[in-house]
Amino acid sequence: MKKPFVTLDKIKEIAKEYPTPFHIYDEKGIRENARGLFEAFSWNAGFKEYFAVKATPNPALIRILKEEGCGVDCSSYTELMMAERLGFRGDEIMFSSNETPAEEYIYARKLGAIINLDDITHIDFLEKTAGIPEKICLRYNPGGEFTINNMIMGTPADAKYGLTRPQMFEAVRTLMSKGVKEFGVHAFLASNNIENDYYPVLARVLFELIADITAETGAKFVFVNLSGGIGVPYRPEQKKTDIKVIGEGVRKAYDEILASRGIAPKIFTELGRYMLAPYGGLITKVVHFKHTYKEYAGCDACAAHLMRPAIYGAYHHITVLGKEDAPCDHIYDVVGSLCENSDKFAVDRKLPELEIGDYLFIHEAGAHGHSMGYNYNGKLRSAEILLKPDGSYKLIRRAETPDDYFATLDIYPEFRRK
Ligand SMILES: *Cc1c(COP(=O)(O)O)cnc(C)c1O
Repeated sequence: MKKPFVTLDKIKEIAKEYPTPFHIYDEKGIRENARGLFEAFSWNAGFKEYFAVKATPNPALIRILKEEGCGVDCSSYTELMMAERLGFRGDEIMFSSNETPAEEYIYARKLGAIINLDDITHIDFLEKTAGIPEKICLRYNPGGEFTINNMIMGTPADAKYGLTRPQMFEAVRTLMSKGVKEFGVHAFLASNNIENDYYPVLARVLFELIADITAETGAKFVFVNLSGGIGVPYRPEQKKTDIKVIGEGVRKAYDEILASRGIAPKIFTELGRYMLAPYGGLITKVVHFKHTYKEYAGCDACAAHLMRPAIYGAYHHITVLGKEDAPCDHIYDVVGSLCENSDKFAVDRKLPELEIGDYLFIHEAGAHGHSMGYNYNGKLRSAEILLKPDGSYKLIRRAETPDDYFATLDIYPEFRRK
């Protein structure tokens, strides 16, 4: 059974100050989970997690992760700006971008970020725009299908990312001739993997690749970036991945493939979902019922606050706060207020009998939740609140106001902020 990290009483207290809907995050859970990750990879000197900023770009949350030893993985100009303002510099920033504009490379170089090239043609582009650094990373795409135990987990051949195997060898040679002294390799082949095998299988692919490239070119690989992709159990019947088992699986591949060859790269990760999804919830209140061909429970949040169900049909578990132990003997579609029929947090969901004013806790909203929010239908993005380990809470992003919505219309006098 999934349990929210916050009680009804606490939410009632918070809602007096900050009306629903809002996202709430659990500092204690975030810190414990981050420590578990670092512990699982402590066998590798220099292991580092570069939190994927796009998952949850909130300064307070990223500062917590920074205190736990994380760097940041950025993929756009504004994400780099956020990294700079939060005090990240140089090797603490990974820049994993694609279709990258020149100004992003220039800015990434200014910050001393590690640049992860997504394509071989970007070597010339980077040289002309920002110059080639001495350390660089290449994103690999093995093509074909990516399988684990004969199960197809992803189809890299259809993915827009990364260099082919022959391009990897050619790019390394070209970059060496242009003065690169240290290389890293990166790949992201399947998303939201809740099996423990993803990283170990991916690590094997990358370790064998760098062993081959090193043998042929003499290039020095100083890190292997396993990127994001460790999943979280969105459904109650799914099991949490075991990060210790994952860390040990990568270690085994490392020892088998690299130790005998005298190659000893650092292991990097760029997890987003795994770091924060379970430690964030969307809090919304039931405001209407509708009885037509189905039973609808309308709430004050909508897909603008959490769009995964609307765009992926993704399952997000819902707990009715205060009714944690009540029988789930009613069936509802839990819906938001967008003029879009996909705006449903849950379809045919078994829940306890709902009443107007009930607070719903929508689970696993801590990553790819608020950050994917949008302003369709003139909806305003919600506040974000941090629940501290001592039970107190803090506003870490205010809710948008109509002035924010109209901000880009300030070219018209009647829309200027009054
Ligand atoms: C999205 C992304 C991540 C994070 O992915 P998760 O599924 O949140 O772990 C990491 N690296 C890159 C390059 C990404 O695009």
